[in-house]
Amino acid sequence: MIKIKFSKRQTKIIEIVKKHEPITGENIARMLDLTRGALRPDLAILTMLHILEAKPKIGYFYNKKDIDLNNKFLGRVKVNDLKSLPIVVTKNTKIYDAAVTMFVENVGTIFVVEDGILLGVISRKDLLKASIGGGKPADIPVGVVMTRMPKIIYCKDDESLIIILRKIVNNEIDCLPVVEDTKKGLKVVGRISKTNIISCLYDTLK
Ligand code: ADP
Repeated sequence: MIKIKFSKRQTKIIEIVKKHEPITGENIARMLDLTRGALRPDLAILTMLHILEAKPKIGYFYNKKDIDLNNKFLGRVKVNDLKSLPIVVTKNTKIYDAAVTMFVENVGTIFVVEDGILLGVISRKDLLKASIGGGKPADIPVGVVMTRMPKIIYCKDDESLIIILRKIVNNEIDCLPVVEDTKKGLKVVGRISKTNIISCLYDTLK
């Protein structure tokens, strides 16, 4: 078997695409502080080797061999068919109140927004960590403990279920914000959780 040795930059590109697929060449370039032109040869090589797959107007995907992006069911169901309403708080909300919101809304992940724009994600573990860290839950704002942009893994309405499954599995997370691009940033318009996905799969059995 021939082993391919990627350059440092190519390895970084693969990591970015794995995390953020589908992602445009412009956005990969931005994350690496390069111009789109400087990135073109690397993207061409990775696409030619079928490490990445390029879909016109959508962007680059990581091409894991055992995943069929066109799978009859998982490739056809879209985020838009699955998403539910997002539960949001602001960055000054205290972790005590965020925990209450999780119970009241019966969710395990909440999104932190400012004027509807995504700033962060708070999960059960984040709240637990903050609570056992010594501070008072009624005093600590979620802004201190949230996972923040640009680390957040998100999705958009037209992405397929297979891509969502891959994002959830690769990043070991339970929930993704559904966003729309706006001039101010990513506007949160929904949420996809493992629960959404399981109910969707269950519905197909009926
Ligand atoms: P839980 O804490 O309930 O087990 P997760 O496994 O989803 O939930 O969260 C684990 C960590 O991943 C937390 O620190 C959380 O902030 C972070 N996280 C959760 N969802 C996302 C996401 N969509 N993007 C990036 N990080 C996330």
